[in-house]
Amino acid sequence: MPKSYTLQSAQEIFNLPLLELLYKAQAVHRESFNPNEVQISTLLSIKTGSCPENCAYCPQSAHYNTGLQKEPLMKIEEVLTAAKRAKDAGSTRFCMGAAWREPKDDDLELVCEMVSEVKKLGLETCVTLGLLKTHQAERLKDAGLDFYNHNIDTSPEFYEEIITTRTFEDRLNTLKNVRKSGVKVCCGGILGMGETNEDRIKMLVLLANLEEQPESVPINKLIKIPGTPLESQADIDPFDFVRTIALARILMPKSYVRLSAGREQMSDELQAMCFMAGANSIFYGEKLLTAGNPVPEQDNKLFERLGLSKKLA
Ligand code: SF4
Repeated sequence: MPKSYTLQSAQEIFNLPLLELLYKAQAVHRESFNPNEVQISTLLSIKTGSCPENCAYCPQSAHYNTGLQKEPLMKIEEVLTAAKRAKDAGSTRFCMGAAWREPKDDDLELVCEMVSEVKKLGLETCVTLGLLKTHQAERLKDAGLDFYNHNIDTSPEFYEEIITTRTFEDRLNTLKNVRKSGVKVCCGGILGMGETNEDRIKMLVLLANLEEQPESVPINKLIKIPGTPLESQADIDPFDFVRTIALARILMPKSYVRLSAGREQMSDELQAMCFMAGANSIFYGEKLLTAGNPVPEQDNKLFERLGLSKKLA
């Protein structure tokens, strides 16, 4: 059971002089992790677009016209080809995302087959399929699923500015169902949607105070997709982004903090600061669901320049 954090104690950490905050985050990081190792995941969209939800950042929502090419659920062979490619490129985890409000039981069976087959390749598996009922989480666990991703996106207070078709409570219930099933939890949020630093801190305090902290905490930087309500959103201050990563590391010392969407728009220097702040996982590959991501060669070069290595399974 992790300790319980208050908003005030987290704010005090967040507002430390930046270099002191980074020092503290590095010290915490080194207690549980090799500081020069980064875990690599690859994310594949297995069903794209036409989602009935209205998440204001998402090009896959049917509420916005973003010119996205919609795709039905992929065939298992295509998924396996992509998984093998990811493994060859050094990924240890393969994440599959489907743009659903929640999976229908028939579709879930197909996803379970994908999970079992991907697992046979020696990869960890993760899926993100929307809201999940208890029996569905258990079914995925039986199929061998390692992680379920379901982000809370932001603070409970700011949440309704971003999505109104499902509640914050719905999201927490899904996290509970996943946790009960024994599948590991991957849960984080998106920065730069117009929220304040207080919202960012509240989101992390909520995650850190869960009965069991998420094993994986993705921190995304908004990708401003034309056609979505957030297309003209002002950029987040990069140092506030780094501070949020450092706070995640300090409040959740044993979780993998994943630098997720938005890396393509980050300089190498900013990414290096995020690693210094305790980020130790990235998505690798040219695509992140439907958005761009740095090409693997670019990441390999960055790793080489920073003396970082990919964590082996
Ligand atoms: S983020 Fe997920 S739930 Fe929200 S619109 Fe996009 S695909 Fe649907």
